[in-house]
Amino acid sequence: PPVQPPAPSSTAQSEALFERAKRVTPGGVNSPVRAFRSVGGVPRFMASAEGAYLTDADGNAYIDHIGSWGPMILGHNHPAIRDAIVAAAAHGTSFGAPGWREVDLAELVCQITGVQKVRFVNSGTEATMSALRLARGFTGRKYTLKFRGNYHGHADALLVEAGSGLMTNAAELGAAAPSSAGVPDEYARLTLVAEYNDASALDALMAERGHEIAAVIFEPVVGNAGVLLPSAEFLAALDRVKGNGALLIADEVMTGFRLSASGATGRLGLTPDLSCWGKIIGGGLPVGAYGGRAEIMDYVSPEGPVYQAGTLSGNPLAMSAGLATLQALQADPGLYDRLDTYTARLAEGLQQAADSVGVTVWINHIGSMLTVFFQAGPVSNYTEAARSDTAAFAVWFQGLLKRGVYWAPSQYESIFISAAHGETELKVTLQAARAAFAEVVQ
Ligand code: PLP
Repeated sequence: PPVQPPAPSSTAQSEALFERAKRVTPGGVNSPVRAFRSVGGVPRFMASAEGAYLTDADGNAYIDHIGSWGPMILGHNHPAIRDAIVAAAAHGTSFGAPGWREVDLAELVCQITGVQKVRFVNSGTEATMSALRLARGFTGRKYTLKFRGNYHGHADALLVEAGSGLMTNAAELGAAAPSSAGVPDEYARLTLVAEYNDASALDALMAERGHEIAAVIFEPVVGNAGVLLPSAEFLAALDRVKGNGALLIADEVMTGFRLSASGATGRLGLTPDLSCWGKIIGGGLPVGAYGGRAEIMDYVSPEGPVYQAGTLSGNPLAMSAGLATLQALQADPGLYDRLDTYTARLAEGLQQAADSVGVTVWINHIGSMLTVFFQAGPVSNYTEAARSDTAAFAVWFQGLLKRGVYWAPSQYESIFISAAHGETELKVTLQAARAAFAEVVQ
C-alpha cells in the first residue's frame, strides 16, 4: 500500500460508470447508502481492495474506513481468506447438498459463541427474518418488539422505525419515523417500537404487552443510527425480557466477532436466547447465520415446524471464507485489544482536530466501531442522533474524500477499523480530518 494515498484527481471513470449504472439499476447502486445521496457528489466505483486501501476505477487510492460495512476485519484481500476461497473453488462452487465446510464452520461458531446449534443463511436480513419466525413458532405469539433506529435488514416486519439507510433517507425527507413504501400497515402493526436505552419504557411495555410478545430484537451496540452504546440499566432491562417468556434476540450482524470473539453480548455480559450474525462470519462472501439453544433451534425445519431454506445456504466458497476468517481471528487473540487501542487513538485525535478549529462534535466509539456526530451530544438514542448537523457532516465527508480518506457516506453509520490499519493510516487520516474540519467552519 502507498505510504501516503495520493489526493484523488480524476473521477471521470466513476462518473461514466455512475451514468451507465443509473440507466439500468435504481439510483445506480445495489444498496442505497452507496449512492452518496446524503453527502452529494459522485459515488466512487471501486476496482480493487488491499489491506486498508480501496482503489477506484480512476486509480485513486483511499484509506478505507468502511471495510465493506463490517466484514473485512482482517483487511481487504487477506491472503489466508483468498487462498481458502480459491482452494474451495477448485472443488466446485455449489453442491445443493451438505458438505464438510458447513459442519466445520458450525462447530467453530458454536465453540466461539456458546450457542448449541446454528443455521447458515445468505445475509444478515435472512438471519433476523428467520430468527423472528422461529421465535414466533417457538412461543406461539404474534408480536415482536424492536428499538427506534435499530436496523435489522430489509424484511417487511423489521422496516419499522429502522436505522441505517432508512435514517439517512428520513433525514433527507424531514420525516420523523422512517419506514418503507410497500410494507403493509398490517405487518408493521405486529412490530412494537420502543426507544433504545430507555429501560423504564421497555419494562413498562413488557409489563403491559409482554404476554403477547414473541421476541425482543435489538442491536447490543447500535451501528445503524451511528454508534450508540447501551447503558447498564438498559442491558439489565433487556435481560429481564427473558423472564416474560419472550425470546431475546441479539442482532450481532455488525458486532459479532467484531467487538470480541463472542460479540457485543459477550463483551457486555448479556446472554440472549437467539443470536444473528452476518458480515464477518462470511469473511466478505454472502453469509448470515442464526443460532441459540438446541431446544429452540430444533423448531427449525426439517427437525421442527418452522420452515426456512436456501438454495445457496452453506455454500462451500462462502463457508471457506468464513472459516478462514474465524480461524485467523482465533489465532490472534491480541487483535481485539489492538483494534480498541487504534480506534481510541483515532477518536482522541478526531476530537482534538475538531476542537482545534472550533467544530463541535460528539464521538461515540467502542472496539473498532466509531461515529463522529456533528453536534454537542450526548448521543444515546435515535432521537438524539437525529439532531446532528448532516450538512456539516457532508462537508467534512467531502473534505476527507478528496484527501484520499474514505469514510461512511452518512452521518448515521459506524466506521469499521481493521487489522490492516496502522500508524501511517492513523496519521494520514487525522491530517485529512483536521483539514476537512477547517472546511466545515468556512
Ligand atoms: N442487522 C444489522 C445490525 C445490520 O447492521 C445489517 C446490515 O447492515 C443487517 C442486519 C442486514 O444485513 P444484510 O445487509 O447482510 O442483509
